[in-house]
Amino acid sequence: MAVAHHVERIVIENCAVATVDADDTEYATGHVVVAGDTIESVGPGRAPEGLENVVRRIDGTGHLATPGLVNTHHHFYQWITRGLATDHNLFDWLVALYPTWARIDEPMVYAAAQGSLAMMARGGVTTAMDHHYVYPRGSGDLSGAIIRAARETGVRFTLARGSMDRGASDGGLPPDFAVETLEGALAATEETVDRHHDPSFGAMTQIAVAPCSPFSVTTELLRQGAELARRKGVRLHTHGSETVEEEKFCHELFGMGPTDYFESTGWLGEDVWMAHCVHMNDSDIAAFARTRTGVAHCPSSNARLAAGIARVPDMLAAGVPVGLGVDGTASNESGELHTELRNALLINRLGPHREAALNARQALRLGTYGGAQVLGRAAEIGSLEPGKLADLVLWKLDTLAHASIADPVTALVFGAAAPVTLSLVGGRPVVENSRLLHVDEDAVARSTRDEAQRLARIAAEG
Ligand SMILES: [Zn+2]
Repeated sequence: MAVAHHVERIVIENCAVATVDADDTEYATGHVVVAGDTIESVGPGRAPEGLENVVRRIDGTGHLATPGLVNTHHHFYQWITRGLATDHNLFDWLVALYPTWARIDEPMVYAAAQGSLAMMARGGVTTAMDHHYVYPRGSGDLSGAIIRAARETGVRFTLARGSMDRGASDGGLPPDFAVETLEGALAATEETVDRHHDPSFGAMTQIAVAPCSPFSVTTELLRQGAELARRKGVRLHTHGSETVEEEKFCHELFGMGPTDYFESTGWLGEDVWMAHCVHMNDSDIAAFARTRTGVAHCPSSNARLAAGIARVPDMLAAGVPVGLGVDGTASNESGELHTELRNALLINRLGPHREAALNARQALRLGTYGGAQVLGRAAEIGSLEPGKLADLVLWKLDTLAHASIADPVTALVFGAAAPVTLSLVGGRPVVENSRLLHVDEDAVARSTRDEAQRLARIAAEG
């Protein structure tokens, strides 16, 4: 115990606490003690007396403490192509945007990553992810730039190193100039894993292998990508079952639906999580449950692109791990995860389960513990429990937007996005009083605008 005496403690008291542990334990008035980078204790009432090395004592009156939000699907680069092709379905939207996306370079991707990360962190995300799959030739070290932006913002991060190798001449959706070769994509992905993946407890940077989607990658890239991920011991991520058009594409090209196609290429398993999973029949859901394949539910993007409503209540009932994703901000301009907590709840109630579809606590669980599960980090983050990493958010619920709602979890999920008084990542403050501590938000706003304009200019030149 010699070390414990020297560890610095942060004590948070007088707040409501939603732990999101296995029993959904909550305290109307409770405390959280952080020691170094981990949670030392959580409980009702005041913190234990006589704690040593308390460097900070926070009065959380009027606040709710929850685990930090975990985002499980995003495309950071799209921050500089927001607000375009606003009235399209997925395939038409992709075809409209591919030519612009194919012109991105390192300064653009860095600025877009900064913007995406800043928006999420400010809104209570403590673990972010980026599925990046556009790597134009000669565009620089895009993966390195994205990882640098995440480090600077201070959030925990998974880079899903994406890829596309099925251009239009191979029957794919993207134009040939936007894709990599099979060998090039695999080699670059392996190099990214070797250079950046940290498997240790409390890692700030992890890498996943992430070919983009059935209609933009070859069967061989899926097969060999899965082999690569398992050889390296990293997770696998892709898009699946997003739209009726994708389903039709799979039946025409592969003679089977997306889930059967994924299973045939090694893409179901407890080390896999997939974005969307909107068009799933009962046997698809059973296959995900049997293999413990995770789902990143992205309700706002699915609505924006008229994709449909994922069967989240059925997935949860079957035991499928489900987290939330904002998806790329070219199909969800808000770019913050509170919108997804709220829309997961509301949009699923428009489905067959109606008012029984999801409640506020289930929505909060999707955005925290569920996200940790699908990123393979449920032993480290996603709930407030002793021994877990101190990734937590203190939400301010005593102002105009929320003060008249008695139940804090209801206020958080059903209400407007709540201000973040404090966000900790591994015990380190990242947001205080709604301001980012490690990046200059106004400077990021300017650079994202400049890079968006530069990209638009280059794309217009053709
Ligand atoms: Zn996506």
